[in-house]
Amino acid sequence: MARLQAIRGMNDILPDQTALWQHLEDSFRATVDSFGYREIRFPLIEQTRLFRRSIGEVTDIVEKEMYSFEDSGGDHISLRPEGTAGCVRAAEQHGLLYNRQQRLWYQGAMFRRERPQKGRYRQFHQFGVEAFGMAGPDIDAEVIELSAAYWRRLGLGGKLKLELNNIGSAEDRKRYGGALGEYLLSRADEIDAAARSRIHSNPFRVLDSKHPGTRKVADEAPAMAEYLSPESVAHYAALKELLRAAGIRHIENPSLVRGLDYYNYCVFEWTTDALGAQGAVCGGGRYDGLVAQLGGRPTPAAGFAIGIERLALLLETLDRIPPEAQFRADVCLVVLGPATTVAQELARRLREAFPARSVVCQCGGGKYAQQVKRAYDLRADVLVVMEAGEGGPPAEVKLRSLDERFEPRMVTRDQCVAAVGELLSLSPPARQDL
Ligand code: ATP
Ligand code: MG
Repeated sequence: MARLQAIRGMNDILPDQTALWQHLEDSFRATVDSFGYREIRFPLIEQTRLFRRSIGEVTDIVEKEMYSFEDSGGDHISLRPEGTAGCVRAAEQHGLLYNRQQRLWYQGAMFRRERPQKGRYRQFHQFGVEAFGMAGPDIDAEVIELSAAYWRRLGLGGKLKLELNNIGSAEDRKRYGGALGEYLLSRADEIDAAARSRIHSNPFRVLDSKHPGTRKVADEAPAMAEYLSPESVAHYAALKELLRAAGIRHIENPSLVRGLDYYNYCVFEWTTDALGAQGAVCGGGRYDGLVAQLGGRPTPAAGFAIGIERLALLLETLDRIPPEAQFRADVCLVVLGPATTVAQELARRLREAFPARSVVCQCGGGKYAQQVKRAYDLRADVLVVMEAGEGGPPAEVKLRSLDERFEPRMVTRDQCVAAVGELLSLSPPARQDL
């Protein structure tokens, strides 16, 4: 039988990487906590029509990228390609949006059947925030400031560029869409067939085409800016002023359209040049129409989603992985001879005394050199060497480090907990509160 392999584009996240993932998760949780956002968890699978109605029928995600099935009961279901639709569905279903503001966050796996490449996978993971019930530009500024605070916490301050665009209100987009459609029709023979088929259904999609002929036509198209209502212009201007006051620099990118239909007013992306073509690490914006579109009362909303794989890649590429984002054992017991019971008892006492520290007690014995090598693999901070001879368990154990950070010393078993405590106080816990 052929060796079993993961599905293409679906990654295993191995123990050497999970410490970094936990670091990203802990830092994100600390950031959203500091802004008063609360976590929501919703299913990985929803009815297919939820995504069709929210993301839009004529989008890459719905047309080409969704994992959709008919289950054995005949229900049409899809793996979630993004979080906003499920978040809105859950919040609406449970009355969280009724006459109330909500600041929510989520994290988890998303699924899109794209061509796998570096930074683009078929199962990937996102952190997201969604803020409901706030119509002014202050909440747009807040979610952007939250993302900037997260970059700073990760040591990425200044490493990501904020790109902004004003895509107007739903009415502006209708007017602009009409004008754009007419313009594209007038040059229909210069654009590719796929773009031509979208002139009526979603002319905005033609604007981010990569086909050279279509690109030229798109570049010469009338600009959205000419179709913006005074309200759209004012909202965007106020947002830019708030960002300026918060010290957050941005660049304007008039071709930033985003691949989902539900946005209005301000859309944004945080991008980097360090990851090649997959340079967008975070995307978001305002989506005032979505809640009503899914059957709820009109509710203003804004949010973003961060791609965790791309963020992990970026930290690796920029060599910004801090020591606490790498696994390390605090204490490792090296057990020589028949001392298992006593060693495990000592390990138990150490864990009780230092509940935030990791204590690994070597099982199965082995030679001293072998056990020290294992301790190196665990990047252990303090080694406790216990050697039992003919006379049974030893009265004393040896404490040593792997890097000569302190002088090796002998202590009695009773003194061991206190002595280890002193040595540990010289170094912070491997997993500290962020
Ligand atoms: P892209 O332009 O790179 O296709 P997108 O606009 O489709 O991104 P969004 O739907 O805005 O992406 O999702 C938010 C973030 O999720 C992106 O900025 C990116 O970091 C990440 N992301 C999206 N698709 C993938 C994927 N297939 N694999 C890994 N990360 C992804
Ligand atoms: Mg995409």
